[in-house]
Amino acid sequence: MGFFKRITSLFSSSSPEREDYFYRFAVQCSRCGEIIQGRLDTRNDLSIDYGDEGDGETTYFSRKILVGDQLCFQRIEVELRFDSKRSLIDRKIQGGKFVDAVEASEE
Ligand SMILES: [Zn+2]
Repeated sequence: MGFFKRITSLFSSSSPEREDYFYRFAVQCSRCGEIIQGRLDTRNDLSIDYGDEGDGETTYFSRKILVGDQLCFQRIEVELRFDSKRSLIDRKIQGGKFVDAVEASEE
């Protein structure tokens, strides 16, 4: 289970990225209200889905578990789906909600 390692790496932006392959998002914990930023490496974190019976559209999806820094151990499960051009087409969340206003605070 590499969950915690991967989550930690989400927050330590020590390695500078020359190109932006990350899909960034923010969620708010439904229990304590903490806003947690997450990001997805669209080169490495996506699983391919060939669609139904071979004639569906190829899409990509990824599932993330986010846990905040507060003393609240709510696990927020995020599922993101992208089309073949890796644009977001669908997203689901449990344990929190998406917050769209938070953007690129690292820059
Ligand atoms: Zn919380």
